[in-house]
Amino acid sequence: MSALDEVADDVFAYIERPGGWCVSNAALVRADGESVLVDTLGTESRARGLRSALMRMGAGSPAMVINTHWHGDHTAGNALFAPAPVVAHRRCRPAMARNGWAVRALWPEIDWGDLPLVLPGVGVGDRAVLHAGEREIHLLTGGIGHTDADLAVWVPHARVLIAGDLVMPGTTPFLLSGSVHGMLDWIDRLRDLAPETIIGGHGEVADRHVLTETRDYLGWLLAVARDAMPSGATPLEAARQVDPARLGGHPWSSWNEPERLVANLHCAYAEIADTAAPIRSGPVLADMAAFLGHSIPASA
Ligand SMILES: [Zn+2]
Repeated sequence: MSALDEVADDVFAYIERPGGWCVSNAALVRADGESVLVDTLGTESRARGLRSALMRMGAGSPAMVINTHWHGDHTAGNALFAPAPVVAHRRCRPAMARNGWAVRALWPEIDWGDLPLVLPGVGVGDRAVLHAGEREIHLLTGGIGHTDADLAVWVPHARVLIAGDLVMPGTTPFLLSGSVHGMLDWIDRLRDLAPETIIGGHGEVADRHVLTETRDYLGWLLAVARDAMPSGATPLEAARQVDPARLGGHPWSSWNEPERLVANLHCAYAEIADTAAPIRSGPVLADMAAFLGHSIPASA
């Protein structure tokens, strides 16, 4: 059972392990009796566990819920924290409405529960400041990164960054809904904050070194794509040639979800070639399974 652990003054992390596909994190800022919750996990039972953890620490209902992005493994529990308003990037609401619970079709064997889809009621266009008591919570938006509607949460008094899936310590980034170059811009911006503690969307609590490693990974990814494209190698073939989990030698050689390299190479190819056509997710997911030699595993 996960718990809300205080990782800095008035900032709590709810880390779900092992942190792979659909096993995501949440966070809470609590001060002066007021709480602001960031993300609501991927299934009804996981979200109920989060709500129980709030109850155990006497936090009760949060005053506000923030969604870091629209992926269904971060928003499933929104309904459980009503009547707290759900705050997100202004593009998050239409994306959630459009995609619904699409993630669930990928893993029909998971018990997702039966909660209704609750869309954000407040859309942030640029930058906003919320409060939990006297503590400020800054909401940062930017260009396309992990998705087209990412929102990073910065808690300045404690220098804590709650990054959603812009940062996933120990886990391979996933850019199928996002952009390699856009992620590089985001990571530079997050590094400029000089955070001391980072709560990512998946994985363990980390320090700012994870930003450097993520940036290095993205640079390596682009270099792999640029090397492979002239030979006519497909993203799957390029991924097999450089497979870091097999060949070692990089910090990301031991990261979870190595199959995401294939999807990220599809994105890198498209950005380098400057193709306007959207990437179709079905063939990319099939390539990821082919890279693994079996279906993509998820637990929940
Ligand atoms: Zn995500």
